[in-house]
Amino acid sequence: MRSLLPLNLFILLVACTPSGQVVESGSAVNPEAPYIWEKKVFPKTLQISTSFNEDETDAIKEMGLAWSDSVNNTKTFFNVDSTTKNSYDVDSPDGVLGIYKAITWPSDVSKAALAITQIYGRRHNIGEANEYVGIEHADILVNYATGFEFDSTDDGQYDGYDLKTVVLHEMGHFLGLGHVPKYYYRPDEDEQLNEEEYKASSVMYPSISSREVKRIPQPKDIDVLVEKYLSSPAVAMASPFKPKANVPGENVKIVIELRSDGECLHKENGALVRRHQIKIK
Ligand SMILES: [Zn+2]
Repeated sequence: MRSLLPLNLFILLVACTPSGQVVESGSAVNPEAPYIWEKKVFPKTLQISTSFNEDETDAIKEMGLAWSDSVNNTKTFFNVDSTTKNSYDVDSPDGVLGIYKAITWPSDVSKAALAITQIYGRRHNIGEANEYVGIEHADILVNYATGFEFDSTDDGQYDGYDLKTVVLHEMGHFLGLGHVPKYYYRPDEDEQLNEEEYKASSVMYPSISSREVKRIPQPKDIDVLVEKYLSSPAVAMASPFKPKANVPGENVKIVIELRSDGECLHKENGALVRRHQIKIK
């Protein structure tokens, strides 16, 4: 047992490097590369599993609207008016963009994850400056399987995690948003903020605590959406998010975990590619 300690320590140090990245050896992908929907056609119809109760369904709908309201209603990102059955295909895109109340949890995802967004798409321009992941399909799974309590009411009595806060964050990933850096690695422009203020400055902070309530996308989050999906035609024409002609890109399945223990893991094709991002994407 004793001989293992230095190795454990080493792994810990690697995981906590200022860059915040853990890249699989041999992996050529750029973990900082942004994610963006391949077809920028909105709203995306996000089907809500029928296994959510009425309060939970309403909470999810409200957060879908919160993303649309975030840009002064110039873009409706989500259509959340339909429901779907209580089943999901965790291994392949099934044609239904869904948010699911997961009562069984995928065996390859940490039990400490409150929720995950899984993205299927293609990684384009690998190794180049304009590398990106084109999203083709995404689902959100909320973890009702491993003992977390989610509060979907507004009675001010918070037991467990605020469902709206969790869902708003996952919907951000669904739209292609990454995380803001953790407080310790915050960018210079946020240097003057204390930890509480900084965490409040984005709904894409990598962790959520129980009883924490963040139900409105913040300017930082909105800026990224505007950049990705609402730029002027002229800017869009010059968008770096274009694949090379006749190169289909590499199929990827990305799983982003939102965890209760403050760590957010990103896995691509089963391999850990990062723990948290440095820049908002
Ligand atoms: Zn996240």
